[in-house]
Amino acid sequence: MSDFREILNQAKQQIREVSVQDVQDKLNPDNGFTLLDVREGDEWEQGHLNKAIFLPRGFLEVKADKILPDKNQAIVVYCAGGTRSALAAKTLQDLGYTDVYSMAGGFNAWKNNGFPFITPEKVGKDQMARYSRHLRIPEVGEQGQLKLLKSRVLLVGAGGLGSPAGVYLAASGVGTLGLVDYDVVDESNLQRQILHWTSSIGMPKVDSARRTLFEVNPDVKVRTYPIHLDASNIVDIFKDYDVIVSGSDNFTTAYMVNDAAVLTKKPVVYGSIFRFEGQMSTFIPYEGPCFRCLYPSATPPELAPSCDEAGVLGVLPGVVGLIQATEVIKLLLKLGTPLAGRLLAYDALEMTFRKFKIPRDPNCATCGPNAHIDLAAIPEFVCSVQTTSNRG
Ligand SMILES: [Zn+2]
Repeated sequence: MSDFREILNQAKQQIREVSVQDVQDKLNPDNGFTLLDVREGDEWEQGHLNKAIFLPRGFLEVKADKILPDKNQAIVVYCAGGTRSALAAKTLQDLGYTDVYSMAGGFNAWKNNGFPFITPEKVGKDQMARYSRHLRIPEVGEQGQLKLLKSRVLLVGAGGLGSPAGVYLAASGVGTLGLVDYDVVDESNLQRQILHWTSSIGMPKVDSARRTLFEVNPDVKVRTYPIHLDASNIVDIFKDYDVIVSGSDNFTTAYMVNDAAVLTKKPVVYGSIFRFEGQMSTFIPYEGPCFRCLYPSATPPELAPSCDEAGVLGVLPGVVGLIQATEVIKLLLKLGTPLAGRLLAYDALEMTFRKFKIPRDPNCATCGPNAHIDLAAIPEFVCSVQTTSNRG
């Protein structure tokens, strides 16, 4: 019966060892080598080589096929000091891998030589439970959740659409939510604007929304802008955000948002609601059409009823706002296909979703080749029947 030392010596005679210097100079992922870290999870988390693949030695035999499908790929295995990697290299050879090396001295020698390594960022222990259902989706996972926590989303309007979008984006752990709204909460808002409660009546909407969002998820920073967006402030605000959610029913604001978003190259997730019908799209500057490609004229008369109290089914903004929130998460995590170049029309009575292709307009005044964006020149939209302002 051989003891451990003997097993190790035998393994070392049957494998090829390379130095940390060799790995730094040439045997690295930039030159087609796969770096395999066979340490335990807590060691990996303290730091590891850039672009290394994590596969603890205990799982090597079970998972090698899946994680290292090509038996002829060049693999440099490392551990903390070079012992486990020598044994792992031997195991890989026994499994049929033909081009395996063990990095002598391991991660400790790598660090002692002053070579670069990365320390993975982690979702905090106190956040693991809250985001556990995201962490279990491979396409989101810890890196996706960290990305969400670092993301910044601006909601233009804390009304019907901003409410469901805001609540779910906060619950999802989008780290910073900006809210633009100058209104105060009115009793007629409560039928659909779920950010606001009966006790919020009379409060500025941004303050009422902040209170709700903090209760939903205290991880989220809420920045409030109780102002009208106009040419003097919009670009400065947009610059700080990754995605803009447009939930305003005011056409001046819709064009202002569009033109400022194209100027600052920020994607806009657009939604609108009217009675039983909703429309949604995602405008990604210069990749797809913008709002003005779709509605070139600043005040289309057929769309005029939007700023009065035209009526909207209370549950309708829930559907539309959540599709907007879904688009936001997809954009932030680069998942799936955004609703760019397509208008999604929802009819609650027929329970249909129809998609219409919307092309870029080569003559678009905002995103076309001869575009001229002048935020100060966007006309004030006047309602045909003047009523109190009442968003979405
Ligand atoms: Zn356009």
